[in-house]
Amino acid sequence: MRNARAFGRGAHTTKEGAMTERLRVQVDPDKCQGHARCKALAPELFELDEYGNAHEAGDGMVPPGLEDKAWLARSNCPEIAIDVIEE
Ligand code: SF4
Repeated sequence: MRNARAFGRGAHTTKEGAMTERLRVQVDPDKCQGHARCKALAPELFELDEYGNAHEAGDGMVPPGLEDKAWLARSNCPEIAIDVIEE
């Protein structure tokens, strides 16, 4: 999927002219147990409900410059509830 969609809808051009992909985070509500580690590590990308369970902020699209935080949140979720989708 990565290479096939490199120039698709989500791709954008950096200052250096290289085409990059956009990332989107997605929380599986059936897996999330409300540890809030994602919110602590990437507060721009996640919101918590009244029970402390996480969901994506907005439409889940990762603003340029926050890609590392998306991957960090994914790798630190103890329930493996976060997907990072390359679009
Ligand atoms: S770290 Fe994982 S389990 Fe914890 S709130 Fe975030 S998505 Fe849910």
